[in-house]
Amino acid sequence: MLRIPFDNSYAKLPDSFFARVKPTPVKQPQLIRVNRPLAELLGLDPDELGSPAGVQLLAGNLLPEGAEPIALAYAGHQFGNFVPQLGDGRAILLGELLGKDGLRRDVQLKGSGPTPFSRRGDGRAALGPVLREYIVSEAMFALGIPTTRALAAVATGEVVVREELQRGAVFARVAASHLRVGTFEFFAARRDRESLRRLVDYALLRHFPQCFGAESPALALLDCVIDAQANLIARWLGVGFIHGVMNTDNTSISGETIDYGPCAFLDEYRPDKKFSSIDHGKRYAFGNQPRIAQWNVTAFAETLVLLLGEEAEAVKQLTERLERFPLRFEAAYLKVLRGKLGLAQSEAGDRELALDLLERMAASEVDYTILFRRLCDAAESAKADSAVAELFDNGGAYHEWAERWRGRLSLEAAGPSERAAAMRLVNPAFIPRNHRIAEAIEAAVSGDLSVFERLTSVLERPFEEQPEAADLALPPRKEERVRATFCGT
Ligand code: AMP
Ligand code: MG
Repeated sequence: MLRIPFDNSYAKLPDSFFARVKPTPVKQPQLIRVNRPLAELLGLDPDELGSPAGVQLLAGNLLPEGAEPIALAYAGHQFGNFVPQLGDGRAILLGELLGKDGLRRDVQLKGSGPTPFSRRGDGRAALGPVLREYIVSEAMFALGIPTTRALAAVATGEVVVREELQRGAVFARVAASHLRVGTFEFFAARRDRESLRRLVDYALLRHFPQCFGAESPALALLDCVIDAQANLIARWLGVGFIHGVMNTDNTSISGETIDYGPCAFLDEYRPDKKFSSIDHGKRYAFGNQPRIAQWNVTAFAETLVLLLGEEAEAVKQLTERLERFPLRFEAAYLKVLRGKLGLAQSEAGDRELALDLLERMAASEVDYTILFRRLCDAAESAKADSAVAELFDNGGAYHEWAERWRGRLSLEAAGPSERAAAMRLVNPAFIPRNHRIAEAIEAAVSGDLSVFERLTSVLERPFEEQPEAADLALPPRKEERVRATFCGT
């Protein structure tokens, strides 16, 4: 049997933190893909994982030695409404592994059958959403954005019933942990102070060990979570990512992007853009994400009141920290924007310069990724200006701005090629465009995995020119546009 050197810590917490439950076997597991570099990082043999025994394991048909399968308890605010009990309804944590880099990670099977938290759900996942999570989470990783990762995907040989019949699949997800804001809300809602205290210590030790032992663990954790979320959202904005369902149960304490449901990437730049079919009020629209993250960390802070007490002093300390969120976010976002514009130093007016460009882009609905990639060429030589200008309804909108940009660049010592090279390391040529994801899923569902394979492999190197994959860098033609994305749960 495949030996996996699990080293579990969450399963040692009290029983109220989870339910012990085994994956439900599936009929006919078939490998879709093993993520070889990630397997190796985890100290696993990718060939073994892809062997018949490995596939049985990835499907949940065979439990590896050392696994302590559990479904985690959590609550959450969904679209602003509190649900006191959600929990892993279609996911089972197999255990934790210490990677070759010394970091501890969860290995979870998603779509592995019902758990005590399934409510009316079937505990299963459909192939489409599984491939979507595979493609996008690995693309985010390659883009350098904190994220959960895809270890593997297998088809189950079973059918799942959604709006229509779909092929079933199991996704093996790897995460720094599966602690969510909603995990804290679960215990706070039950007024379970002791469990909450354990959870704070656990989270600090696991994710922010530098702060373990702080005078007030709760306040130290809040600071770390605020920083991690502010950074994460700034990074999302930098690549045009829309999460789509930023509920508190989908907000990871570690600051990783988690739960790829109706997520999407911007083609044209429009701050009010949303794709999710269930987000009627545009709550989770692209430009609203910083405000929502603040809302989510506020919900997190509220859970800590149970530990700190409701005295004025405690509330003041929590509030002071929460008030720092916009500043932390703005600082992180400005850093991202500076990088995109090729500015290595910070000067007064940088923010305005960047926001001015974004406003001009919004007015012309310019493709976000293509613009910044072409701007790298323009940084190298003004000859490339025309290729940028042609993206705007009126090229003057760019030329006016570019004059100010060049004035600002002249304050810095870097030469044009050096600057362009630095810009090409932060402005991707390739993002997982919505229509390309849809195309890959459509082909896979009818048995052709080649489109999925090609897309994932190109997205492993998003900052490199890959001329043979130029088609994957293009925005959708009118008839290719994806208008809405779905959770698919
Ligand atoms: P999500 O929208 O994926 O973040 O899930 C929200 C909640 O619904 C979580 O508690 C999930 O575990 C649960 N859930 C989603 N899909 C299913 C399913 N097919 N079966 C059981 N529970 C589900
Ligand atoms: Mg979720």
